[in-house]
Amino acid sequence: MRVGGRVEWFLEPTTPEELRSAVISCRERELPLRILGGGANLIIADGLLPGVVIGTGRMNRLFRIDAAVDGDTNPEGEQDPGAWSAEPSGRVAPADPSIDPRLVGWAGTTLPSLVRTARDLGYGGIEGVVGIPGHLGGGIAMNAGGRWGELWDRVELVRVIDEQGEFLDLTREQVQPGYRNSNLGEKIIAAAIMRFEPTPKPLIEQRMRENLRAKNAVQPVSERSAGCVFKNPDPELSGGRGAGQLVDDCGLKGRSMGDAMVSPLHGNFIVNRGSALATDVLALIDQVREEVAQQTGIQLELEVKRWLG
Ligand SMILES: Cc1cc2nc3c(=O)[nH]c(=O)nc-3n(C[C@H](O)[C@H](O)[C@H](O)COP(=O)(O)OP(=O)(O)OC[C@H]3O[C@@H](n4cnc5c(N)ncnc54)[C@H](O)[C@@H]3O)c2cc1C
Repeated sequence: MRVGGRVEWFLEPTTPEELRSAVISCRERELPLRILGGGANLIIADGLLPGVVIGTGRMNRLFRIDAAVDGDTNPEGEQDPGAWSAEPSGRVAPADPSIDPRLVGWAGTTLPSLVRTARDLGYGGIEGVVGIPGHLGGGIAMNAGGRWGELWDRVELVRVIDEQGEFLDLTREQVQPGYRNSNLGEKIIAAAIMRFEPTPKPLIEQRMRENLRAKNAVQPVSERSAGCVFKNPDPELSGGRGAGQLVDDCGLKGRSMGDAMVSPLHGNFIVNRGSALATDVLALIDQVREEVAQQTGIQLELEVKRWLG
C-alpha cells in the first residue's frame, strides 16, 4: 500500500534458525513482535511503531525436496519430512522432477518465484497464485486463495516456531486452516513443504495466462493496494454478493479520503493514488464499513491486517 511509518527495530534473518533466534530474543526482552512478509496484505499506521518487526525478505529460499540435506529417503524413494535445508547450490531442476514433486520453501520465498519455479518443473496445482504478491510465509498465514482454491491445498507440512520458541512441524489436518486464516495464532511460519501434481508445462502456462487475464480484468493489480480489504461475507446473509459487490451496490466505488480511494475497478480494493497516509486509508475503510452496514445490515470483516502501533 506504501503507507505507514517506521519501526524501532527491524530484523532480517536469513535462515529458519536465525528467525527462531530472533523470535526468542524478542520474547526474552518482552518486546512487541510482528512478522512482515511482502507487506501485500498489510496497512501499517503512520508514525513510529514500537518494538520489533522481523522481515522474512532475506529468507528467500526454494528447493526441491531431494536437494535437502537433512531428510531421509523412505522406501517409495520419497524424501521424508524434516528436510528443511539445502546446500546453497541446492538443485531446482533434477533429471526427473516428477519422481517426488515436492518443494521446500522458506518463509521469504516470493509467491511469484514459487509459481515460476513450479511451472518450470512441470508442477501443477499452484497456477491460481499467479499475480498474487507476497511471500510464502505471509501466503500461508493468510491462506491466500481465490476461485481456484487456496495455498494450503498444496501445503503438506509447515514448520512453525511455537509459543515456546521451538520448531514444530504441522500438517493441514493439525492446523485446520480456514478462509483467509491459517488458524496458527501466535505461531510463526519458518518454512513449508508443498506437494504438486506433475502436469505438462504448456497446460500450466495456459492456466496461468487464463488466471492472470481474469485477475487483471477485475482487480487494480498495477496500483498500490493491500489486496482485498474485506472478507466475503456469508453468502446466505449477502444474497451471494461478495464484499466488492456490496461496496459497489452501496455506491462507494471511487469514494476517496485524501489520496486513498475505493478502486473504481473493484469495490474491495483501496488504492493509494500517490501520497495517501495510513490515516486516510484507515478512515476510508471505517467509512465504507459503516455505510455498507447502514445500507445492507451486513458487518464486513477485515481481510487486511492493520498494525496500529
Ligand atoms: C494486487 C494484489 C492482489 C492480491 N490478490 C490476492 C488474491 O487473489 N488472493 C489472496 O488471498 N490475497 C491476495 N492479495 C493479498 C496478499 O497478496 C496475500 O494475502 C499474501 O499472501 C500476503 O503475503 P505477504 O507476505 O505480503 O503478507 P504480509 O502482508 O506481510 O502479512 C500478512 C499477515 O501475515 C503475517 N505473516 C507474514 N509472514 C508471516 C510468517 N512467516 N509467519 C506468521 N505470520 C506471518 C503478518 O504478520 C500479517 O499479519 C493481493 C494483494 C495485492 C496487493
